[in-house]
Amino acid sequence: MTDAIICAPLGVEARAIRQGLRGSADPPRVRRTGYGTRRAADQAGELKADSFGQLAVMGVGAGLTADLSPGDLVVATEAGVATCPSAPLLAGELRRAGLTVRTGRVTTVDHLVRRAERATLAADGSLLADMESAPLAAAAGDRPVAVIRAISDTPVHPVAGIVSGGLAALRSLRAAAPAVERWAAACGPRQVLLAGPRSFCAGVERAIEIVERALELQGKPVYVRKQIVHNTRVVGDLEGRGAVFVDELDQVPDGATVVFSAHGVSPMVRAEASQRGLAVIDATCPLVSKVHAEARRFAADGYTVALIGHEGHEEVEGTLGEAPDSMVLVQTPQDVAKLRPRDGDRVAYLMQTTLSVDEAAEVSGALRDRFPAVRTPGSDDICYATTNRQAAVRAVAAESGLVLVAGSANSSNSVRLVEACERNGTPAHLIDSAEDIQLSWLTGVSTIGLTAGASAPPAVVEEIISALSGLGPLSVSERVTTTESIRFGLPKEVRQ
Ligand code: SF4
Repeated sequence: MTDAIICAPLGVEARAIRQGLRGSADPPRVRRTGYGTRRAADQAGELKADSFGQLAVMGVGAGLTADLSPGDLVVATEAGVATCPSAPLLAGELRRAGLTVRTGRVTTVDHLVRRAERATLAADGSLLADMESAPLAAAAGDRPVAVIRAISDTPVHPVAGIVSGGLAALRSLRAAAPAVERWAAACGPRQVLLAGPRSFCAGVERAIEIVERALELQGKPVYVRKQIVHNTRVVGDLEGRGAVFVDELDQVPDGATVVFSAHGVSPMVRAEASQRGLAVIDATCPLVSKVHAEARRFAADGYTVALIGHEGHEEVEGTLGEAPDSMVLVQTPQDVAKLRPRDGDRVAYLMQTTLSVDEAAEVSGALRDRFPAVRTPGSDDICYATTNRQAAVRAVAAESGLVLVAGSANSSNSVRLVEACERNGTPAHLIDSAEDIQLSWLTGVSTIGLTAGASAPPAVVEEIISALSGLGPLSVSERVTTTESIRFGLPKEVRQ
């Protein structure tokens, strides 16, 4: 049963929220708390004596920055002394419902704010001013709290337009109410089990450092062919610092410096860069380069080389390019059955570095069955980081009702972590940030496994933990299956 309270200062606000909750089997209580700071303080006193599990404050408010529009929602990260760590979860839920949402500080004042005061409050870091949220939110004490305010007026649409702005704000409150109900349903005590190891591997750290050092040494822009690693956060951060990501070399100006990504490139790309006179800094992971070298060696010895991997992945394209006439991609045991090598006694196989260990074993097993003399790489192609992260996530998945994997959709090793959980019967979701977590995933789940792909920054994991801590008491522990100490040296171009 929901034991949440939604506080709404005005009758019209309470009505809009109740309309939004129509159809709910067990809606939260909506309590009209009255207009202004004095009534809010009185109600806060009464709320302290009330028994509720979580508290949300909803209403309209004054936008403080010119980029806000009437009807936009502000989800508070803080309101007075109350902090709202789950704001990213609620903001994500509201955005998926089609609403325009900002997260930030909500400030409570005891009067209507005018133009000059809006600027002062905005300069102080606030997004919205109201006259009730801070005392009401403080009444939550240690319990989960959320503050959602819809903008009725802004510096550009001031109080004169408040009727139309107010209607837009009430519509947004109504539309937001179901998400607030889902937030309340997701609240509760839980534990997070962190998989160890997780997040950045040595190849990703090296690739990012190469771009950072190139920016330091050469100034911006530094061109990077393809995403340096498959993570939107990393790419966005480097873009902000002056890196320019391009799909192909013809987008790089003559004479410029270009960094090759961690996934490697084919010899054709290297040749094109050389013909163009581009200065190349190679951030290919040394473990990918090792697979390229194996491909060249097997092909030179007259072998047909089956590359176990995923079609279209940049690493696979680069590796296939090493010996296009001798190599063939195999993704499934069925592909193995269709293989037509020049000589069945001279077949070798290699693997993409970020495959699922289990899935790759099926395909390599099929190759060994069909070609008993098949040659294999000297050491595993699936890299240490991929193997370790899969073992670690399996360990936490066994104890969890749900696993969250931080990583981008195009990150092969992150997707494989989701699959490893699902193969073991634990639901898992890939998320780029805390905002991607759907609150319905969390309802009724008391233990969440948490990991990050090799290209996902550790900061994302911290943000996810922080957001979950806003839903109730959270204990965090780690299950370490192995420790890593591998580091790769930097190329000479960025060594000082
Ligand atoms: S996942 Fe493995 S192959 Fe890829 S960059 Fe990291 S260490 Fe290198």
